Amino acid sequence: MHIQVLSSGSKGNCTLVRAGDVNLLIDAGLPLRELETRFESARFPAREIHHIALTHGHLDHARSSGSLAKRTGATLHLCERLMLNKSVEQAPIMQTLHVGTADQLRTPTQPLETDALELLPVLIPHDAVPTVAFRMEHKGRRAVYLTDMGEPTAAIASQLRDSHVLILEFNYDEEMLRKGPYPINLKKRVAGRGGHLSNKQAAEVLGHLAGPNLHTLVLAHLSEKNNTHGLALAAATTKLLELGMPHVEIIIASQDEVGRAIKV
Ligand SMILES: [Zn+2]
Ligand SMILES: [Zn+2]
Repeated sequence: MHIQVLSSGSKGNCTLVRAGDVNLLIDAGLPLRELETRFESARFPAREIHHIALTHGHLDHARSSGSLAKRTGATLHLCERLMLNKSVEQAPIMQTLHVGTADQLRTPTQPLETDALELLPVLIPHDAVPTVAFRMEHKGRRAVYLTDMGEPTAAIASQLRDSHVLILEFNYDEEMLRKGPYPINLKKRVAGRGGHLSNKQAAEVLGHLAGPNLHTLVLAHLSEKNNTHGLALAAATTKLLELGMPHVEIIIASQDEVGRAIKV
């Protein structure tokens, strides 16, 4: 299985997962034309997407999900409450995600005995309800995708712990947010239980989720106004050292450029 962040941040999120013959896109939050440019950069033909899975209904995640599903014929997987969302209305095929229950994703022509890509949605706190993180498993290899989480919860560990690759939100630095340009209400929202993970909170979540198999950590959804690469990196590095895992590679996901395909 390979996982590749095509875009990450408040202007749009999208991540490509390739497992055997199955191609899955997590979120489609960029405008359709921009998404197509990212696919070209990744040298991936968009028509080969079989499945699109939505974490939640915010525009930076859901924006082009319906139109891309229509363009590619992909099945759109989403929680039932999102089915009336305007962003998804063009999708020809929808399938309900059930929180805590894994789906087996295959291509339309794949025989049942081949290894499916297992997709498990796990509920996390955020102000678009429901919001889920995803655990993906293929041939014993696991990747976790977790962004847009308001506060650390230890409860997620049982379902999301010990992946080989972890994509985790490091949204803001607490001091930068406090002193930064956002209006007070927005500051409260970002820092609140329905907002995003600070570097400090993300490090705490990392402590819950990191297991012996973890080899790559991707820092995702960094705020352009309230964070720096250096601060996020320092928080992650310090935590990994504390955990006795200095060998874990850290990558910072970009808003503007396609990341490299990570072998899970
Ligand atoms: Zn977001
Ligand atoms: Zn969100």
